[in-house]
Amino acid sequence: MAKIFCVANQKGGVGKTTTAVNLAAGLAQHNQRVLLADLDPQGNATMGAGINKATLEGSIYEVLLGMSDIRSVRKTSEAGKFDVLPANRELAGAEVEMVELEQREARLKNAFAQVADDYDFILIDCPPALSMLTLNGLCSAHGVIIPMQCEYYALEGLSDLVNTIKKVHAKLNPELKVIGLLRVMFDPRMTLSQQVSDQLEQHFGDKVFKTVIPRNVRLAEAPSYGVPGVNFDPNSKGAQAYIAFGAEMVDRIKTL
Ligand code: ADP
Ligand code: MG
Repeated sequence: MAKIFCVANQKGGVGKTTTAVNLAAGLAQHNQRVLLADLDPQGNATMGAGINKATLEGSIYEVLLGMSDIRSVRKTSEAGKFDVLPANRELAGAEVEMVELEQREARLKNAFAQVADDYDFILIDCPPALSMLTLNGLCSAHGVIIPMQCEYYALEGLSDLVNTIKKVHAKLNPELKVIGLLRVMFDPRMTLSQQVSDQLEQHFGDKVFKTVIPRNVRLAEAPSYGVPGVNFDPNSKGAQAYIAFGAEMVDRIKTL
């Protein structure tokens, strides 16, 4: 049975998609069976995995609305060696259209139940909002991975996310917990990065992942080739960090 994780942070541009795509690829390097679910209408995770969002026959949108079976919509990322539940801008409409549906926060959870035996991990790339789409992600997951940049405003907004997670835990999904904070785009030459990083460790203890993802241009270049950074330049520091993060997650789920 797959363990299911949201990559979430309601801020945009903090490295959610980069983390979701490269953790999927990193886990695949450790022989884990992975499904990457793209829950952002921007479809960046879909494109980053090498799947053309413009020519999809079906997407996560149809799955959420009950118009298609998850099995018929999933695709395989040849570059990354994992499966993808793709998204495109159609998904933006789901938010409104789901209002009328029964159990609207549990649509994704119910879909995942059909394929949970096919995977070790299901990773969800969440949109930059605490919306009905993100709520569907949180209701389906065992835990949340929160990518953060070590900058002055890093902690701003974190309490809103943590409070939302607590509410979902209390009312909708008792399994949900914060798995950890992941330091991303880390620049060791900046004193501030090191200070914020130290503060995170002091406040959150072992909720801070040991792996630190460095700022690395190869990770930023990879999406335009439709290849995860891990596969685009496997020896780069960014790729190596996400492969190490995959190993940390394989280890972490043993205690879940
Ligand atoms: P989000 O999904 O939270 O909006 P992205 O993963 O799309 O964030 O990242 C935002 C931008 O930062 C993208 O251009 C991405 O390529 C870049 N980026 C993310 N992580 C790194 C990294 N570790 N090193 C360099 N660039 C990165
Ligand atoms: Mg994104």
